[in-house]
Amino acid sequence: MKKKLIMVIVILCTTAWITRSQTYDIVLKGGHMIDPKNNIDEVMDLAIADGKIAQVAKTIDETGAAKVIDATNMYVTPGVIDLHVHVYYGTKADQDYMNGPNAVPPDGFSFRAGVTTVVDAGSSGWRTFPDFKRQTIDMAKTRVLAFLNIVGEGMRGGPFEQNTKDMDARKTAEFASAHPDIIVGIKLAHYNGHEWAPTDSAVHAGILADLPVMIDFGGSIPPLSIEELFMEHLRPGDIFTHCYASLQSRESLVDDNGKVKPFVFDARKKGIIFDVGHGGGSFRWSQAIPAMEQGFLPDAISSDLHIGSMNSGMKDMSNLMSKFLNLGMSLQDVILRSTWNPAKIIHHPELGNLSVGSEADIAVFSLRKGNFGFLDTGNEKMEGDQKLETELTIRAGKIVWDLNGIGATAIRQ
Ligand SMILES: [Zn+2]
Repeated sequence: MKKKLIMVIVILCTTAWITRSQTYDIVLKGGHMIDPKNNIDEVMDLAIADGKIAQVAKTIDETGAAKVIDATNMYVTPGVIDLHVHVYYGTKADQDYMNGPNAVPPDGFSFRAGVTTVVDAGSSGWRTFPDFKRQTIDMAKTRVLAFLNIVGEGMRGGPFEQNTKDMDARKTAEFASAHPDIIVGIKLAHYNGHEWAPTDSAVHAGILADLPVMIDFGGSIPPLSIEELFMEHLRPGDIFTHCYASLQSRESLVDDNGKVKPFVFDARKKGIIFDVGHGGGSFRWSQAIPAMEQGFLPDAISSDLHIGSMNSGMKDMSNLMSKFLNLGMSLQDVILRSTWNPAKIIHHPELGNLSVGSEADIAVFSLRKGNFGFLDTGNEKMEGDQKLETELTIRAGKIVWDLNGIGATAIRQ
């Protein structure tokens, strides 16, 4: 009996010792956490160990932690997932977004805007993906996922993207299925013709590989019917990008009287996903303002990052997210649409959240108050009074961006 009691005491003491001596690599203290997946919208501490989220609680004992970061008056969110970027950068002057100068290197533009995962939107096809993977994806600290273009060459520009002979659904699907860790969908973009075959090829590849399809609906003049696209060609879960574009060559969601077309709500009910894909020519206040007023919010806020968009109205994800704040979207909704929603859209529910055990991809934002101006792709300005600023970005437990040194040690005098 006595022996047993001693054993119990020994076990209890050991357990207590283990609990007390548990050390964290980083503890983020006192930040306002917004984690839509877990319905968290309050001040919480968060601890990181071995690149993973180790604990989330009202108060975490930071004793023994290698680093303690005070996030008081800041917002702590999952690392942002940018659903639409072009990061197959290179030096081939005539190759557009495919190993060309219109794309950008991911790490140069992601972390500074709170982004930890980017999804390349069809810059490569099955012929060019191996080069993209070797040159960019494998080299980047940012997590780079990809939609594979239905065009084998990818976004090589000009006639390459019009070549229906290079749109092989079976090959594209087989290739996508062989890279399930990186390829999350199929893309069709920039097709100018009036046939539906390219759309249907992309969807066919999506069916064969069991992946969603993202459609950048071409440049056909007169434009094709988007009602027909939504209701007859796309499946639930397929993605319509550039949703607030106003172009001659593509039908818009909002009509000339400022009304969201009725079939657009039906398409949403069917399960069509609406993605911002701001870009250099695809986001107009004349679409976004009435759509927001009539309750038609985008499912995903994404940048369509490339040289043209980052140097004009889009700038970066935190600026784009701020636009939606100033359009009247709540901060919780903005974070949902740039973290957990995109994770679900690409069927990667392990991303875009702050659950214990998840990879520690985290963004910390300040919400600045002041006088700010936001541009659309027609260079029209909307004034606003709030702006998100990326204070800190953590990727797989490592600090990769620290604007004001909240994660750094103070200077020694
Ligand atoms: Zn794009």
